[in-house]
Amino acid sequence: MARIYNFSAGPAMLPEEVLKEAAEEMLDYRGCGMSVMEMSHRSKVYQQIIDEAEADLRELVGIPDNYRVLFLQGGATLQFGMIPMNLMTVNKKADFIHTGVWTKKAMADAKLFGQVNVIASSEDRKFAYIPDVKGLKFDKDADYVYMCDNNTIYGTKFKEYPETGNIPLICDMSSCFLSEPIDVKKFGMIYAGAQKNVGPAGVTIIIIRDDLVERCKDLALPAYLKYNIHVENGSMYNTPATYGIYMCGKVFKWLLKTGGLEKRKKLNEEKAKILYDYLDSSKFFKASVDKEARSLMNVTFRTPSDELDAEFLDGAKKYKFTNLKGHRSTGGLRASIYNAMPIDGVKALVSYMKEFEEAHK
Ligand SMILES: *Cc1c(COP(=O)(O)O)cnc(C)c1O
Repeated sequence: MARIYNFSAGPAMLPEEVLKEAAEEMLDYRGCGMSVMEMSHRSKVYQQIIDEAEADLRELVGIPDNYRVLFLQGGATLQFGMIPMNLMTVNKKADFIHTGVWTKKAMADAKLFGQVNVIASSEDRKFAYIPDVKGLKFDKDADYVYMCDNNTIYGTKFKEYPETGNIPLICDMSSCFLSEPIDVKKFGMIYAGAQKNVGPAGVTIIIIRDDLVERCKDLALPAYLKYNIHVENGSMYNTPATYGIYMCGKVFKWLLKTGGLEKRKKLNEEKAKILYDYLDSSKFFKASVDKEARSLMNVTFRTPSDELDAEFLDGAKKYKFTNLKGHRSTGGLRASIYNAMPIDGVKALVSYMKEFEEAHK
C-alpha cells in the first residue's frame, strides 16, 4: 500500500496517524466489540466521544463560555440558508462582503429572507483579490455582516477582519478552519464544513454566540433548521454524523498533540512559502491571485496556456499527484495544502514543477 500526495480541495487528506488509529479501532472500539459506526448515538460510550470532541475543540481554539459548539449535517451549504432563516430576522437585512462563488451562493439564499446589501466586492477582477476591510461602512440596522474567510476556489484569504462593532460578524471558515489561531470573540458565528481541513465530509462545525441562539427561539421554522433546537439537544436532536464527529475528534487531538494552532500556522506558512517562492521566481508558472490575498491552504496558479495546464496535469500522474486541476469555474491549476499535507508533498510538487518548467523552456 502506498499513500499518495492528494492535493484535493475537499474531501481532502487526513493525517495518516489519525487514519491508522481509526483503522485499529474499526472492528472493536476500545473493547466495546463494535465499530463507532455501529454504535447508538444515545449510548454512554458515544456521548463520551462527542463530549470529548467538543472539549478538545474548545481547548484547541480557546472558545469562550458564551459560545455554543454544534456538529450538524447538510454541509456548509445548508448554512447559506439557515443563517438568514434564523438570524436575518430582526430588521430583515444584512451586509455582505462578496469574494466569489461561496458568498454568491450565500447571498442567493439570503435574498429569499430579506435584503442583501453588498458592501464590498472583488468581482471586478474575477475575485483575484480581497476587498479592503478598513473603512467599510455598515448599515447600523444590519442583522449581521457576512463574509467567507478563505476562498477555496480562487485561493484568496482575508488577512484581517472587518471591525463591525455591535453588528455580529458571521464567517464561513470552511477551508481555513483550524489552519491558524481564531479570535472567536470577534465573531457572532463561525462555521466550517469538515471535509476541507478537519475530517470526513458529512459534518459541519458551528460556533455560535448565545445571543444569536436566543434570536431564533420563537421563529416558526422546522425543528432541524433552528439553531436553538440543536443547542438544546447537544447536536443530537436527531442522529448526528456519528463516525464523522469521531474522526473530527481525533483530528482535534492530533492538533493539540502537535503543538496547537500557533504552531500549525507556522507550519502552514512554511509549506505555502515553498510553493509561492517558487511561483514568484518562475518565468513559466504564474500565481493566479494578488500577493496580499494569497491563501495558505489553496494555492492557485497557471502555466502560459490551457494546453500546458493539461499537459502538466497529465505529467503529474507519473508522480502520483492527484487533484491539481483548478475549480471548474476558474480553470488553471490548484494545489490544496491543508494541515494534513506533509511538507515533503509540497517539496515534491515544486520539484516536479521545476522539471516541467525546464522541459518547456
Ligand atoms: C466547500 C465549501 C463550501 C461548501 O461546502 P459543502 O460542504 O459542499 O456544502 C462552502 N464554503 C466554502 C468556503 C467551501 O470551501
